[in-house]
Amino acid sequence: MTADRLRTAGNLTGPRVTEIVAAVVAEHDVDAAQAAREAAAKPRKKVVVEPADGTLADLRVTATVEDVRLAKDSIDAVIAGVCADDPRGKAVRRSDAVIALLTGKVFACECENDDCPSREGVEVAARLATVVLHVVARRESLTGESDVPAYLDGFGPITADHVRDIAADADTVIRDLDVTDLLGGASQPSNGYRPTAACDTLVRAVHGRCTHPGCDMPAYRCDLDHVTEYNHGDPSAGGPTCPCNLNPKCRFHHGLKTFVDGWLDDQIVDANGVIWTEVTTPEGITVRSRALNHWLLPELGLVPCAHDDAPTASRPRVESDPGRPRSRTEAKHRYRMRMRAYNRRKREGAPRTPGCPSADEMPPF
Ligand SMILES: [Zn+2]
Ligand SMILES: [Zn+2]
Ligand SMILES: [Zn+2]
Repeated sequence: MTADRLRTAGNLTGPRVTEIVAAVVAEHDVDAAQAAREAAAKPRKKVVVEPADGTLADLRVTATVEDVRLAKDSIDAVIAGVCADDPRGKAVRRSDAVIALLTGKVFACECENDDCPSREGVEVAARLATVVLHVVARRESLTGESDVPAYLDGFGPITADHVRDIAADADTVIRDLDVTDLLGGASQPSNGYRPTAACDTLVRAVHGRCTHPGCDMPAYRCDLDHVTEYNHGDPSAGGPTCPCNLNPKCRFHHGLKTFVDGWLDDQIVDANGVIWTEVTTPEGITVRSRALNHWLLPELGLVPCAHDDAPTASRPRVESDPGRPRSRTEAKHRYRMRMRAYNRRKREGAPRTPGCPSADEMPPF
Protein backbone atom coordinates (compact mmCIF):
# COMPACT_ATOMS: atom_id res chain seq x y z
CA MET A 1 0.00 0.00 0.00
CA THR A 2 2.71 2.45 1.01
CA ALA A 3 4.98 1.35 -1.82
CA ASP A 4 2.14 1.68 -4.31
CA ARG A 5 1.25 5.19 -3.17
CA LEU A 6 4.90 6.25 -3.24
CA ARG A 7 5.48 4.70 -6.66
CA THR A 8 2.53 6.48 -8.25
CA ALA A 9 2.82 9.75 -6.35
CA GLY A 10 5.40 11.58 -8.51
CA ASN A 11 6.81 14.86 -7.14
CA LEU A 12 8.34 13.22 -4.05
CA THR A 13 9.82 15.64 -1.55
CA GLY A 14 10.82 14.72 2.01
CA PRO A 15 7.61 16.06 3.58
CA ARG A 16 5.45 14.34 0.95
CA VAL A 17 7.05 10.95 1.56
CA THR A 18 6.54 11.42 5.30
CA GLU A 19 2.91 12.38 4.75
CA ILE A 20 2.15 9.45 2.44
CA VAL A 21 3.61 6.99 4.97
CA ALA A 22 1.85 8.73 7.88
CA ALA A 23 -1.51 8.54 6.11
CA VAL A 24 -1.14 4.80 5.49
CA VAL A 25 -0.07 4.15 9.10
CA ALA A 26 -2.86 6.31 10.54
CA GLU A 27 -5.42 4.58 8.34
CA HIS A 28 -4.30 0.96 8.63
CA ASP A 29 -2.56 0.71 11.99
CA VAL A 30 -4.83 2.82 14.13
CA ASP A 31 -3.49 1.31 17.35
CA ALA A 32 0.12 2.11 16.46
CA ALA A 33 -0.76 5.67 15.49
CA GLN A 34 -2.75 6.08 18.68
CA ALA A 35 0.05 4.61 20.81
CA ALA A 36 2.55 6.96 19.19
CA ARG A 37 0.29 9.87 19.93
CA GLU A 38 -0.17 8.87 23.56
CA ALA A 39 3.56 8.31 23.98
CA ALA A 40 4.15 11.76 22.56
CA ALA A 41 1.60 13.42 24.82
CA LYS A 42 2.21 15.72 27.74
CA PRO A 43 5.46 14.38 29.27
CA ARG A 44 7.41 15.20 26.09
CA LYS A 45 6.26 18.78 25.85
CA LYS A 46 9.16 21.00 26.74
CA VAL A 47 11.16 24.14 26.11
CA VAL A 48 14.89 23.75 25.52
CA VAL A 49 17.49 26.49 25.42
CA GLU A 50 20.80 25.75 23.74
CA PRO A 51 23.74 28.01 23.00
CA ALA A 52 24.14 28.54 19.25
CA ASP A 53 27.41 30.46 19.43
CA GLY A 54 29.00 33.07 21.67
CA THR A 55 26.21 35.61 21.22
CA LEU A 56 23.16 33.67 20.10
CA ALA A 57 21.11 30.83 21.59
CA ASP A 58 18.27 28.60 20.35
CA LEU A 59 14.89 28.37 22.02
CA ARG A 60 13.11 25.15 21.08
CA VAL A 61 9.49 24.46 22.03
CA THR A 62 7.98 20.98 21.81
CA ALA A 63 4.16 21.01 21.79
CA THR A 64 1.27 19.39 19.90
CA VAL A 65 1.46 19.70 16.12
CA GLU A 66 -1.65 21.85 16.01
CA ASP A 67 -0.28 24.25 18.64
CA VAL A 68 3.08 24.48 16.89
CA ARG A 69 1.35 25.10 13.55
CA LEU A 70 -0.80 27.79 15.14
CA ALA A 71 2.26 29.38 16.77
CA LYS A 72 4.18 29.42 13.48
CA ASP A 73 1.23 30.93 11.59
CA SER A 74 0.84 33.49 14.39
CA ILE A 75 4.49 34.53 14.07
CA ASP A 76 4.08 34.88 10.30
CA ALA A 77 0.88 36.91 10.75
CA VAL A 78 2.68 39.30 13.10
CA ILE A 79 5.76 39.80 10.90
CA ALA A 80 3.50 40.51 7.92
CA GLY A 81 2.57 43.71 9.78
CA VAL A 82 5.83 45.52 8.89
CA CYS A 83 6.09 47.55 5.68
CA ALA A 84 8.11 46.64 2.58
CA ASP A 85 10.99 48.88 3.69
CA ASP A 86 11.75 46.96 6.87
CA PRO A 87 15.45 46.11 6.42
CA ARG A 88 15.37 42.73 8.19
CA GLY A 89 15.06 39.39 6.44
CA LYS A 90 12.13 37.09 7.20
CA ALA A 91 14.11 34.86 9.59
CA VAL A 92 15.27 37.83 11.67
CA ARG A 93 11.76 39.30 11.76
CA ARG A 94 10.39 35.98 13.00
CA SER A 95 13.00 35.80 15.76
CA ASP A 96 12.37 39.41 16.81
CA ALA A 97 8.59 38.86 16.79
CA VAL A 98 8.73 35.71 18.95
CA ILE A 99 10.93 37.38 21.55
CA ALA A 100 8.75 40.51 21.58
CA LEU A 101 5.57 38.44 22.01
CA LEU A 102 7.04 36.30 24.81
CA THR A 103 8.64 39.15 26.71
CA GLY A 104 5.79 41.64 26.30
CA LYS A 105 7.89 44.04 24.24
CA VAL A 106 6.70 45.97 21.20
CA PHE A 107 7.40 44.46 17.77
CA ALA A 108 7.78 47.38 15.36
CA CYS A 109 8.75 48.05 11.77
CA GLU A 110 12.38 49.20 11.48
CA CYS A 111 11.94 51.27 8.32
CA GLU A 112 12.61 54.99 8.21
CA ASN A 113 9.30 56.03 6.65
CA ASP A 114 7.58 58.75 8.64
CA ASP A 115 4.18 57.55 7.48
CA CYS A 116 4.65 53.86 8.30
CA PRO A 117 1.83 52.90 10.70
CA SER A 118 3.89 50.06 12.18
CA ARG A 119 6.92 52.05 13.32
CA GLU A 120 5.32 52.48 16.73
CA GLY A 121 4.43 48.81 16.86
CA VAL A 122 2.57 46.21 14.82
CA GLU A 123 -1.07 45.70 15.83
CA VAL A 124 -0.48 42.24 17.22
CA ALA A 125 -3.97 41.42 18.55
CA ALA A 126 -5.67 42.26 15.27
CA ARG A 127 -3.15 40.18 13.36
CA LEU A 128 -3.43 37.18 15.66
CA ALA A 129 -7.21 37.27 15.26
CA THR A 130 -6.77 36.44 11.56
CA VAL A 131 -4.87 33.20 12.16
CA VAL A 132 -6.87 30.09 11.30
CA LEU A 133 -5.65 26.51 11.34
CA HIS A 134 -7.35 24.30 8.76
CA VAL A 135 -8.08 20.62 9.26
CA VAL A 136 -10.08 18.65 6.72
CA ALA A 137 -11.75 15.53 8.09
CA ARG A 138 -14.35 13.14 6.81
CA ARG A 139 -17.65 13.39 8.65
CA GLU A 140 -17.55 9.71 9.65
CA SER A 141 -14.12 10.24 11.22
CA LEU A 142 -15.56 13.02 13.37
CA THR A 143 -18.52 10.93 14.48
CA GLY A 144 -16.30 7.94 15.25
CA GLU A 145 -17.83 5.65 12.61
CA SER A 146 -14.50 5.47 10.81
CA ASP A 147 -10.80 5.89 11.50
CA VAL A 148 -9.82 7.49 8.21
CA PRO A 149 -7.15 10.07 9.15
CA ALA A 150 -7.75 13.79 8.75
CA TYR A 151 -5.39 16.29 7.11
CA LEU A 152 -3.88 19.17 9.06
CA ASP A 153 -2.88 21.89 6.60
CA GLY A 154 0.84 22.54 6.68
CA PHE A 155 1.56 19.42 8.73
CA GLY A 156 0.08 16.29 7.18
CA PRO A 157 -2.23 13.42 8.19
CA ILE A 158 -3.39 13.18 11.81
CA THR A 159 -5.31 10.28 13.33
CA ALA A 160 -9.12 10.26 13.49
CA ASP A 161 -8.86 10.21 17.27
CA HIS A 162 -6.65 13.29 17.16
CA VAL A 163 -9.08 15.22 14.95
CA ARG A 164 -11.96 14.29 17.27
CA ASP A 165 -10.02 15.93 20.11
CA ILE A 166 -9.44 19.03 18.00
CA ALA A 167 -13.15 19.09 17.08
CA ALA A 168 -14.07 18.99 20.77
CA ASP A 169 -11.96 22.10 21.51
CA ALA A 170 -14.11 25.13 22.31
CA ASP A 171 -12.09 27.28 19.86
CA THR A 172 -12.75 24.97 16.92
CA VAL A 173 -15.29 26.02 14.32
CA ILE A 174 -16.69 23.14 12.28
CA ARG A 175 -17.97 23.80 8.76
CA ASP A 176 -20.01 21.01 7.29
CA LEU A 177 -19.40 20.44 3.58
CA ASP A 178 -20.67 17.84 1.21
CA VAL A 179 -18.90 16.68 -1.94
CA THR A 180 -22.30 16.51 -3.62
CA ASP A 181 -22.62 20.30 -3.09
CA LEU A 182 -20.54 20.42 -6.28
CA LEU A 183 -23.33 18.88 -8.32
CA GLY A 184 -25.07 22.25 -8.40
CA GLY A 185 -21.92 23.95 -9.69
CA ALA A 186 -18.48 24.67 -8.31
CA SER A 187 -18.33 28.42 -8.96
CA GLN A 188 -20.08 31.20 -7.11
CA PRO A 189 -23.40 32.14 -8.77
CA SER A 190 -22.42 35.81 -8.90
CA ASN A 191 -18.85 35.26 -10.11
CA GLY A 192 -17.95 32.31 -12.31
CA TYR A 193 -14.22 32.78 -11.64
CA ARG A 194 -14.54 32.22 -7.89
CA PRO A 195 -15.04 28.69 -6.52
CA THR A 196 -17.74 27.95 -3.96
CA ALA A 197 -16.63 27.35 -0.38
CA ALA A 198 -17.09 23.60 -0.89
CA CYS A 199 -15.02 23.58 -4.08
CA ASP A 200 -12.29 25.73 -2.53
CA THR A 201 -11.99 23.47 0.52
CA LEU A 202 -12.11 20.20 -1.38
CA VAL A 203 -9.49 21.27 -3.93
CA ARG A 204 -7.09 22.48 -1.21
CA ALA A 205 -7.70 19.30 0.79
CA VAL A 206 -7.17 16.81 -2.02
CA HIS A 207 -3.90 18.42 -3.20
CA GLY A 208 -2.64 19.35 0.27
CA ARG A 209 0.24 21.49 -0.97
CA CYS A 210 1.42 23.61 -3.89
CA THR A 211 1.21 21.37 -6.97
CA HIS A 212 4.49 22.58 -8.46
CA PRO A 213 7.07 19.74 -8.28
CA GLY A 214 9.38 20.13 -5.31
CA CYS A 215 7.26 22.75 -3.55
CA ASP A 216 5.64 21.97 -0.20
CA MET A 217 3.81 25.23 0.48
CA PRO A 218 0.64 24.34 2.46
CA ALA A 219 -2.51 24.52 0.33
CA TYR A 220 -4.15 27.14 2.53
CA ARG A 221 -1.21 29.47 1.84
CA CYS A 222 -1.60 28.99 -1.90
CA ASP A 223 -3.73 30.59 -4.60
CA LEU A 224 -6.22 28.36 -6.37
CA ASP A 225 -5.11 28.39 -9.99
CA HIS A 226 -7.26 27.62 -13.05
CA VAL A 227 -5.02 25.08 -14.83
CA THR A 228 -6.60 25.83 -18.20
CA GLU A 229 -6.97 29.57 -17.92
CA TYR A 230 -10.35 31.06 -17.14
CA ASN A 231 -11.62 33.30 -19.93
CA HIS A 232 -13.17 36.33 -18.26
CA GLY A 233 -14.59 37.63 -21.54
CA ASP A 234 -16.12 34.31 -22.59
CA PRO A 235 -16.12 31.75 -19.75
CA SER A 236 -17.36 28.98 -22.04
CA ALA A 237 -14.18 29.31 -24.14
CA GLY A 238 -11.78 28.96 -21.19
CA GLY A 239 -11.10 26.54 -18.38
CA PRO A 240 -13.95 25.89 -15.94
CA THR A 241 -14.02 26.74 -12.25
CA CYS A 242 -14.24 23.14 -11.13
CA PRO A 243 -12.11 20.64 -9.17
CA CYS A 244 -11.10 19.10 -12.51
CA ASN A 245 -9.39 22.37 -13.46
CA LEU A 246 -8.30 23.95 -10.17
CA ASN A 247 -5.25 23.27 -8.03
CA PRO A 248 -3.27 25.14 -5.38
CA LYS A 249 -0.11 26.98 -6.37
CA CYS A 250 1.96 29.14 -4.07
CA ARG A 251 2.29 32.78 -5.09
CA PHE A 252 5.77 32.18 -6.52
CA HIS A 253 4.83 29.19 -8.68
CA HIS A 254 1.54 30.80 -9.70
CA GLY A 255 3.62 33.74 -10.92
CA LEU A 256 6.05 31.41 -12.67
CA LYS A 257 3.23 29.90 -14.70
CA THR A 258 1.60 33.25 -15.43
CA PHE A 259 4.64 35.36 -16.27
CA VAL A 260 7.48 33.06 -17.36
CA ASP A 261 7.26 31.49 -20.80
CA GLY A 262 7.89 27.81 -21.28
CA TRP A 263 6.15 26.38 -18.22
CA LEU A 264 3.07 24.30 -18.89
CA ASP A 265 0.80 22.47 -16.51
CA ASP A 266 -2.13 20.15 -17.00
CA GLN A 267 -4.57 18.31 -14.80
CA ILE A 268 -6.33 15.06 -15.60
CA VAL A 269 -9.03 13.17 -13.73
CA ASP A 270 -8.77 9.50 -14.64
CA ALA A 271 -11.57 6.95 -14.92
CA ASN A 272 -11.02 5.93 -11.29
CA GLY A 273 -11.50 9.49 -10.09
CA VAL A 274 -7.80 9.99 -9.33
CA ILE A 275 -6.68 13.56 -9.97
CA TRP A 276 -3.24 13.89 -11.62
CA THR A 277 -1.30 17.06 -12.16
CA GLU A 278 1.44 17.40 -14.70
CA VAL A 279 4.05 20.13 -15.00
CA THR A 280 6.33 20.43 -18.03
CA THR A 281 9.47 22.53 -17.62
CA PRO A 282 10.87 24.84 -20.34
CA GLU A 283 13.39 22.02 -21.04
CA GLY A 284 10.53 19.65 -21.84
CA ILE A 285 10.78 17.53 -18.70
CA THR A 286 7.34 16.45 -17.49
CA VAL A 287 6.63 15.59 -13.86
CA ARG A 288 3.32 13.84 -13.25
CA SER A 289 1.94 13.68 -9.71
CA ARG A 290 -1.05 12.03 -8.14
CA ALA A 291 -3.09 14.34 -5.88
CA LEU A 292 -1.35 13.94 -2.51
CA ASN A 293 -4.54 13.33 -0.52
CA HIS A 294 -6.56 11.19 -2.89
CA TRP A 295 -6.93 8.81 0.08
CA LEU A 296 -8.87 11.51 1.97
CA LEU A 297 -11.36 12.35 -0.78
CA PRO A 298 -11.41 9.44 -3.23
CA GLU A 299 -14.88 10.43 -4.44
CA LEU A 300 -13.98 14.01 -5.41
CA GLY A 301 -12.78 13.09 -8.90
CA LEU A 302 -15.86 10.96 -9.47
CA VAL A 303 -18.37 13.78 -8.94
CA PRO A 304 -19.68 14.63 -12.42
CA CYS A 305 -18.64 18.08 -13.58
CA ALA A 306 -21.48 20.62 -13.49
CA HIS A 307 -20.10 22.47 -16.51
CA ASP A 308 -20.89 21.06 -19.92
CA ASP A 309 -17.58 22.13 -21.43
CA ALA A 310 -15.19 19.82 -19.63
CA PRO A 311 -11.62 20.64 -20.72
CA THR A 312 -11.34 17.59 -22.99
CA ALA A 313 -14.57 18.47 -24.78
CA SER A 314 -13.51 22.04 -25.44
CA ARG A 315 -10.14 21.21 -26.95
CA PRO A 316 -11.11 20.21 -30.50
CA ARG A 317 -13.18 23.36 -30.87
CA VAL A 318 -10.23 25.50 -29.87
CA GLU A 319 -7.84 23.62 -32.13
CA SER A 320 -10.11 23.90 -35.14
CA ASP A 321 -10.67 27.59 -34.59
CA PRO A 322 -8.08 29.44 -36.69
CA GLY A 323 -9.36 32.84 -35.53
CA ARG A 324 -6.65 35.37 -34.78
CA PRO A 325 -6.09 35.71 -31.02
CA ARG A 326 -7.17 39.07 -29.65
CA SER A 327 -4.32 39.57 -27.20
CA ARG A 328 -0.94 38.20 -26.23
CA THR A 329 -2.42 36.67 -23.09
CA GLU A 330 -5.13 34.96 -25.07
CA ALA A 331 -2.56 33.72 -27.57
CA LYS A 332 -0.53 32.27 -24.72
CA HIS A 333 -3.57 30.55 -23.29
CA ARG A 334 -4.47 29.12 -26.69
CA TYR A 335 -0.91 27.91 -27.12
CA ARG A 336 -1.03 26.19 -23.77
CA MET A 337 -4.31 24.51 -24.67
CA ARG A 338 -2.69 23.17 -27.85
CA MET A 339 0.38 22.04 -25.92
CA ARG A 340 -1.77 20.19 -23.41
CA ALA A 341 -3.58 18.49 -26.27
CA TYR A 342 -0.25 17.64 -27.85
CA ASN A 343 1.13 16.19 -24.61
CA ARG A 344 -2.01 14.12 -24.15
CA ARG A 345 -1.75 12.75 -27.68
CA LYS A 346 1.92 11.95 -27.09
CA ARG A 347 1.01 10.03 -23.96
CA GLU A 348 -1.70 8.08 -25.75
CA GLY A 349 0.79 6.99 -28.42
CA ALA A 350 3.68 6.33 -26.06
CA PRO A 351 4.59 2.67 -25.48
CA ARG A 352 4.66 1.47 -21.88
CA THR A 353 8.08 1.39 -20.32
CA PRO A 354 8.85 -1.93 -18.60
CA GLY A 355 8.77 -1.47 -14.85
CA CYS A 356 6.36 1.46 -15.01
CA PRO A 357 3.08 1.25 -13.10
CA SER A 358 0.51 -0.88 -14.89
CA ALA A 359 -2.41 0.61 -16.78
CA ASP A 360 -4.85 0.35 -13.90
CA GLU A 361 -2.51 2.36 -11.69
CA MET A 362 -1.95 5.17 -14.13
CA PRO A 363 -4.51 7.46 -15.71
CA PRO A 364 -5.93 6.30 -19.04
CA PHE A 365 -4.84 9.44 -20.84
ZN1 LIG B 1 7.66 50.48 7.92
ZN1 LIG C 1 4.98 26.44 -4.89
ZN1 LIG D 1 -15.06 19.88 -14.13
